[in-house]
Amino acid sequence: MKHDFRALANKGISGLTPYQPGKPIAELERELGITSSIKLASNENPLGPSPKAMQAMQDILQQTHIYPDGSCYELKQTIAKFLSVDSTQITVGNGSENILEIIAKAYLNIGDSAVISEYAFLTIPLIIQSFGATILTAPAVNWGHNIDNMLNAIDDKTRVIFLVNPNNPTGTYTNKQDFTKFMNAVPAHIIVVLDEAYSEYITADDYPDALSFLAHHHNLIISRTFSKAYGLAGMRVGYAISSPEIADILNRARLPFNVNVLAATAARAAILDQDHMRKTVALNEAGKKQVEAGLRKLNLEFIPSLANFVTIDVQDGQDIYQKLLHEGVIVRPLKAYGMPRHIRVTIDTAENNQRFLTSIQKVMAIHKETV
Ligand SMILES: *Cc1c(COP(=O)(O)O)cnc(C)c1O
Repeated sequence: MKHDFRALANKGISGLTPYQPGKPIAELERELGITSSIKLASNENPLGPSPKAMQAMQDILQQTHIYPDGSCYELKQTIAKFLSVDSTQITVGNGSENILEIIAKAYLNIGDSAVISEYAFLTIPLIIQSFGATILTAPAVNWGHNIDNMLNAIDDKTRVIFLVNPNNPTGTYTNKQDFTKFMNAVPAHIIVVLDEAYSEYITADDYPDALSFLAHHHNLIISRTFSKAYGLAGMRVGYAISSPEIADILNRARLPFNVNVLAATAARAAILDQDHMRKTVALNEAGKKQVEAGLRKLNLEFIPSLANFVTIDVQDGQDIYQKLLHEGVIVRPLKAYGMPRHIRVTIDTAENNQRFLTSIQKVMAIHKETV
């Protein structure tokens, strides 16, 4: 007897469209038979990991036959001390996507609903859907999250509301005034998940200090990662900061060894190397100015970004993405986000930023000839 294992899958899983990650360099070069391509598609740190994090991983290699410390004591202590919070407020994850999933596992049941903004980071609706919960999408305004629309989207089944700040892929942000208004308006029983994957890059004065809200808003969970500015995307470490009460629940929901020995060791060393962080942020600031100036010269419209990427209106994102691939430049087309005119490009070294600008000028000229 034949069984339909698609139909037998959990509600929410069989209908999922898998997340499309940035194209790996090796795959592009295999497909097109080209070399020296650059990947500007996944917002990785062009400086790589901190040299201290790499050394710490080398030093611990001999101990990788031993299970990790399931409580991640050392890493939690280091994070807590660095952020001036208590270690009972921290939950560690296998990347922050794991944190987002643990939150959904703990707080979203079949029949519940969760609110997100239009154009929000796509992994989030995938996670909501996979737990059989309903996605309530609030319309964006000028590509950014709109606080009033998000509040209006809340229904009587809503248990979690996700705010991505700054948002990927738009780079837009919710300022201090709006965030304060938002936190004061969300019903206190609804969990607010603030995804701050790019927090280390922020230089805007009116960006909210999310940690300062924890004391008065026990429904707030802040999610952060070592994948972006800390340059450890391949190691998979993220963490949440919340009230101890919520952290206790998240720590019950997570798997006991969700962060491996190398990853925990690297993350700890990375926090202790803020010199590398300063270099990272300075390079990004300079690179963003360089890319924005280049785009203005080319008369290309872009969405002002607080993060380490810029999202550009190129009229036909898919076509320009394909043409850039042939130049050996991998960017991210945004059709999956409902933004078919846009591509997202990661800020990189001055040399690679220039290579992107030269390539986009070339392919936009070809594009104009053919439309
Ligand atoms: C990259 C990213 C994440 C996930 O990063 P991890 O590598 O899983 O830590 C989460 N949220 C946003 C907005 C991101 O851009």
